[in-house]
Amino acid sequence: MDIPPEVTALKPLWPTKPTDAIREEILAWIRDKAKLPFMWRGNTHIELQAGSEVEFVCTFDSPGGRVNPCPLCTSTSPKYGGGVVLWVASLSAIVFIGEDCFKSKFPDEYRRAVKKLNAENTDRADKEVLLASIGSVPDLLAAVQQNRALAQGLDDFRRELRRACAGFMPGELIELFPEGRMRATVMREVHYQDGNGETKVRTSYETVESAPIQGLELIARKAAPIAPELAKAVKLLEQVLAETDNGKVEALAALTPAKRHELARALQKARSIAVRGAADLLKRSGFLDEANLATIRNWGARDDADKPLYVRRGGGRFNIGKTQALARVIQLAQDIGLQPASLPAMR
Ligand SMILES: [Zn+2]
Repeated sequence: MDIPPEVTALKPLWPTKPTDAIREEILAWIRDKAKLPFMWRGNTHIELQAGSEVEFVCTFDSPGGRVNPCPLCTSTSPKYGGGVVLWVASLSAIVFIGEDCFKSKFPDEYRRAVKKLNAENTDRADKEVLLASIGSVPDLLAAVQQNRALAQGLDDFRRELRRACAGFMPGELIELFPEGRMRATVMREVHYQDGNGETKVRTSYETVESAPIQGLELIARKAAPIAPELAKAVKLLEQVLAETDNGKVEALAALTPAKRHELARALQKARSIAVRGAADLLKRSGFLDEANLATIRNWGARDDADKPLYVRRGGGRFNIGKTQALARVIQLAQDIGLQPASLPAMR
């Protein structure tokens, strides 16, 4: 094929790495099926020198099966569809070549370029995360601190509850709620007529169950404390704020990519801890809900209850025991059972 001389002429137009706008221009050109990709106005159709510092501008597949000549091997005849667009720093030029050729003929340059590209992509993603969320970090931190305090109250309560129950219960409190409910065994008298037509009575037993008991996550054997997790999130968010002048977008540009990566990771981790913590708080505090405690109290007080239990909450105190007379007292944190603070929306 005829290669116009302006295509092979060196075009040293990019002493610094081409901008995203140039990249977009190239990609738009490649998408245009009326054009051959390598004919783009800025391409310098020449062979690479070994040891060149090259960076990817982009990679592409020629749509519509169009095939470009490759300056590395077949400079004047069609060769490749899948290509790379490279910026060659020493030439200040952009060069289109076949991707497979680049890989096989310049393996070291290829590896270095891939490494750089990956680092750039990581940094781009990190910037997106930080840009989208940095402004709401102060609000997130405030919500997490509030929830951490609520969690501390619940964690303390759970510990005290285990201690109180150990005094009157051989097993664990959770065992009083098989399949999440309380049970009673009801005795019924069944009237029937025997073979002689006489009315007789026999007794039968039937298990009845309460409605589901809420918040059993609080007393589950493996329930881990929530407050220490939220304390980790507080630390991470404080770090993000400290390193970004209190959550300012303008501060991000001055950071190194490594620091941006660290902060983006910290933010994402804090966010996921915060979400999980708020959900756990909500579930666990359901145990202390008045209606829930009333269900437990009513079922635990039945004569036919499988396991007797008395619970009551009031006046900053929680009472629990086999019966009211035997109940032990746990002091409650003032804000225990409050709704967790809602978290600001973030990506
Ligand atoms: Zn080639």
